[in-house]
Amino acid sequence: MDDCIFCKIANHVIESDYVYEDEYVTAFKDAEPQAPVHVLIVPKQHYVNFSDDIPGEVLAAIGHAIKEVAAKTGIDKDGYRVISNAGDNADQVVKHLHVHVLGGEFLGTGLLPEK
Ligand code: 5GP
Ligand code: ZN
Repeated sequence: MDDCIFCKIANHVIESDYVYEDEYVTAFKDAEPQAPVHVLIVPKQHYVNFSDDIPGEVLAAIGHAIKEVAAKTGIDKDGYRVISNAGDNADQVVKHLHVHVLGGEFLGTGLLPEK
């Protein structure tokens, strides 16, 4: 999509601070990190969120990228959290599928921030 920021970053039309890349996905540091390590894993093709029809190889690449990002950023040993916001109730801001990988400190108990 022409006007999609994550399409541009994932395909190097706009450069970013990359952590990992393969044929299907790109991972780069979040511009407004909410933890010492905050990386976004983004498919190179445009999908809105996990409710789209996403090919199996892309889903597998996202799963593999989580492991790669955790190892490369050194959060694999102490632990990390993986989040993907989908739609309005999750407050998905960027409408291009992305997975947040957060770590580098204790992230708190429970899944939900205070509402
Ligand atoms: P969402 O709320 O859609 O799950 O999260 C979108 C995330 O993308 C936010 O954490 C925000 O900081 C990040 N973000 C938005 N625009 C950019 C950008 O241009 N570059 C980078 N690196 N991160 C971005
Ligand atoms: Zn896009």
